[in-house]
Amino acid sequence: MHRKWVQAIALAPINPVKWVCMSVSSDFHTAEGIVVKVIPFRDYDQILVVFTREAGVIKVLHKGSRSKKRGVQGLCMPLTRIEVVYKEKKGEIFSCHELAHLGSYHALRHELSHLNAACDLLQVIYQTQLIGKPAPQLFALLKLYLEKIPSISSPCLLTTSFRLKLLKHEGVSAYPLACSHCLYPLLKEAFVYQGEAYCRDHRVAGSYALQEMELGVLYKLMVCQSYQELAQTELLPQTKTKLERYFRERMQK
Ligand SMILES: [Zn+2]
Repeated sequence: MHRKWVQAIALAPINPVKWVCMSVSSDFHTAEGIVVKVIPFRDYDQILVVFTREAGVIKVLHKGSRSKKRGVQGLCMPLTRIEVVYKEKKGEIFSCHELAHLGSYHALRHELSHLNAACDLLQVIYQTQLIGKPAPQLFALLKLYLEKIPSISSPCLLTTSFRLKLLKHEGVSAYPLACSHCLYPLLKEAFVYQGEAYCRDHRVAGSYALQEMELGVLYKLMVCQSYQELAQTELLPQTKTKLERYFRERMQK
């Protein structure tokens, strides 16, 4: 099989430059990915939802991956890093030709809070990424953040930062935020209503305020370029709630 090397540059400079291998065969494609979700299919098969570096989120049908005697094969569990060789089909479900195991993130399976944070990141990917839309920088960020979960004291820094960086990556949130009415950059405070940010003069009834400190945290988590900077940020529970709400409402736009 012919192969070529392509360079994927990560979202933030903290992410090291990675080299990935892609198939150039027209029939089969090779991709590195993380299993996001597993859906049982027929008696013995499974559909794997995989976030890949090369092709974004794809769905592949893995035949014979579960049986009554052996249960489910270890490769086919969420939060597993795999290399998949697949063939494209007419519909959105491709056929899986080969699977290779690259890792299971054992380090973050020892604590429930770590596992919850990891599943949260996978859930964010599943809810926001369109099938077949490549997002190699986001993939690199996911991989990096998953690796960092066990070593950070507050995993919510990673899950909140991931959401904010994703907003920037998708182009649905600018840095800095600007008032939706007058486009004035919001540096000291912002008033948010249904995912839109406003200045004090143009705030609308029912909006919630992001004070200067909270806005500072938002910007830090959105554009931080080093793990140290991220790990030293203080994220209060009420700020986390506001930022997650902003993410949710902004993605619904
Ligand atoms: Zn304004």
